[in-house]
Amino acid sequence: MSKKVVNPRLQRKKKIEECWAKFLKKHPDEKSCSIAACKMFYKDLTVPCSACGFANKCSEPDKRNLRCQKCKKKIWILSGTFFRKVRRFKPWLAAIWFIERGVEVSAAELARLAEVATSTALAIFKKLSVVVESKMGKEIQFIPSAKFIKAFLRRSRETPAGKHPREEETAAFSKGGNKSDRILHEHQMHRANRPPRPALTQAELDLANQLIGEAEKLILSLLTLTPTRFDELLLQTGFSINQFSAAITNLELFELVERLPGDQFILGPQADLSHSHRPQVPATCKQKDDIVAGFLDFVRSNYRGLSRKYLQCYVALYWAFADKKTWKKGAVLKACIAFREVTDDELITYVTPLKVAAPSALAA
Ligand SMILES: [Zn+2]
Repeated sequence: MSKKVVNPRLQRKKKIEECWAKFLKKHPDEKSCSIAACKMFYKDLTVPCSACGFANKCSEPDKRNLRCQKCKKKIWILSGTFFRKVRRFKPWLAAIWFIERGVEVSAAELARLAEVATSTALAIFKKLSVVVESKMGKEIQFIPSAKFIKAFLRRSRETPAGKHPREEETAAFSKGGNKSDRILHEHQMHRANRPPRPALTQAELDLANQLIGEAEKLILSLLTLTPTRFDELLLQTGFSINQFSAAITNLELFELVERLPGDQFILGPQADLSHSHRPQVPATCKQKDDIVAGFLDFVRSNYRGLSRKYLQCYVALYWAFADKKTWKKGAVLKACIAFREVTDDELITYVTPLKVAAPSALAA
């Protein structure tokens, strides 16, 4: 049987088109979208008057306001809701539709489909992410923002003038980072800014397999992307200093391990090669690394890059797209209906904290 080769880009495009066709079937035009929006808040379209309490029958649900039939006061239908300032509902309902079905779509793609400006689509996703973020429960991991540094390729108003977008991380860190975070931060900056290295050749791999013995495997199994101190590591292995140094030298040779200032160690850039050698990485560290890896994939395939400022927004958005147990059909819309208005000012002043919250479910 011949194996069918699938182009991931075409596959993605096809998925988006199919999802969009289904959306249009349910919501063919702006009028049907705004009626649907009104129905979210008023079952059988009965709008109570906030002044006199009269139950008005809403005859034109696609209008933003109506006049109370009893006291003649103007009633703003969506006043105080998440959708208060929404001018066109189609891009909003479409964004929610895509998220709930787990079909990843970028702001640029949503803008093209729903015929709005890309900046409008971006703001829609950010505002939705604020709602999603508010639903993060107790099952979360706090991950240093420095671990996401590879994704920081866009400028924001927080980016220092004339500097690369990654320098935003340094700026954020210098305002509130503690000493133990400093080494990780410097390491991640250094790693992100240097050119990518070629993968090991077959000859190098063969040599690595010869040199990597039980001692090296044990050290690898203890290391993560969070720095571990030399004395701590030595104690955990139970090796003599000579034994330990020999093993570390072998690991450093193949960049499986990297030595950081202050005699601390971290998994090196070639360490993914050695997954089979590291059977028992501490569960939470592995979870965090998995979340970061999955998120970076999400960013790569949808946005090329993002600014540090909105990192937390995008992590929330990634959760909504990926975790279909929590964010099943109807769940995002329901959360929006129960939420308040998210203002533009709120987005402008939004800044991702140094520790990013990410639901543990993302590591599964
Ligand atoms: Zn009234």
